[in-house]
Amino acid sequence: MPKAAYIHIPFCEHICYYCDFNKFYLKNQPVNEYLQALETEMAMVVAEQPTKSLQTLYVGGGTPTALTADQLAQLLASIKRTLPLSDLEEFTFEVNPDSIDEEKLDVLRSYGVDRLSIGVQAFQPLLLKEIGRTHDQKSVEQAVEKSRQAGFANLSLDLMLGLPKQTPEMFAETLKEAFALEVEHLSCYSLKVEAKTVFYNRQRQGRLTLPPEDDEVKMYRQLCYETEKHGFKQYEISNFAKKGYESRHNLVYWNNDEYYGFGAGAHGYVGGVRYMNHGPLPKYLQAMEEGRRPVFESHHVSRVEQMEEQMFLGLRKRSGVEERVFVERFGVSMFSLYEKQIAQLVARCLLERTDDRVRLTDEGLLLGNEVFEQFLAVLDEGKQQ
Ligand code: SF4
Repeated sequence: MPKAAYIHIPFCEHICYYCDFNKFYLKNQPVNEYLQALETEMAMVVAEQPTKSLQTLYVGGGTPTALTADQLAQLLASIKRTLPLSDLEEFTFEVNPDSIDEEKLDVLRSYGVDRLSIGVQAFQPLLLKEIGRTHDQKSVEQAVEKSRQAGFANLSLDLMLGLPKQTPEMFAETLKEAFALEVEHLSCYSLKVEAKTVFYNRQRQGRLTLPPEDDEVKMYRQLCYETEKHGFKQYEISNFAKKGYESRHNLVYWNNDEYYGFGAGAHGYVGGVRYMNHGPLPKYLQAMEEGRRPVFESHHVSRVEQMEEQMFLGLRKRSGVEERVFVERFGVSMFSLYEKQIAQLVARCLLERTDDRVRLTDEGLLLGNEVFEQFLAVLDEGKQQ
């Protein structure tokens, strides 16, 4: 039974050059029709695959705050009507600094949103322009201030490293500004150039210069060092929180637990099946109009795949993968299943093994993907039934 739900709002007021999320330029989009369809989908899925109560809810995008205050109220009212929320512990909303105001914040608060994730990426105008963002430092400061005034006690900032023209000095400055805002949580991801983005095209044309790898490593080390110095605990490769402010919703993903995914292009994991909804709006809306699930593709996760996911998702957490949890879930020991891989990674100082778990070392944090790969295609499906 899923204890979490992700809801996707695929509209943006501008398109960032690095973004490969499912999103559409807001102007002239059928927003109200989409919100209606979303309610139909939530009601339909929960009726088909019920759960007792959700513990975490995450509204992301796109830019959820690109909706008007009235549309936000409509969305939140439909969430309240359709989803079981009696035991809800965390309700996060993604916020863009230049599309949030007091009225929208009041609407979010009045419907029980208690955590905001604010998309900052960087503070330097030069870098923001490079990546196609339209906000500035002032709007971030105002977004934080207004959120506090509206009563939000749990704020997270999203930052990025490895941006074009970004130097370690600039990144240090960004971190300093972020700490000055006294938020409870920081996420910081490295730029990845993904297909179908402006950056991808520029890279193919030889018009994209990214910082040298050494600089990127330097920035990541700064991130780990400075966050610790400022009282944040690194609990995942790219996530840092003050005590008690870890994102419970994101931990659902890394713990390999199930969750609903609602909206165009959303991913979900329910009843042992991972699925992805139609991304294009006409397809999504048409499915809902015809009264069928808007699922584009789905995949029943085999036992071996579940074990692999348990390893590579769990290793993203600083606490690593616990033997007790693995045995409880699969009835076998990960230490014996992956004995050779674990020993090799420990010998390369990328993994640390204790009596009850395996976790990445500081060195392993920098080479996460290389570590995760070692746990793929190792087990034989036939022998693990
Ligand atoms: S990064 Fe966020 S704001 Fe920018 S285009 Fe993607 S979804 Fe929209």
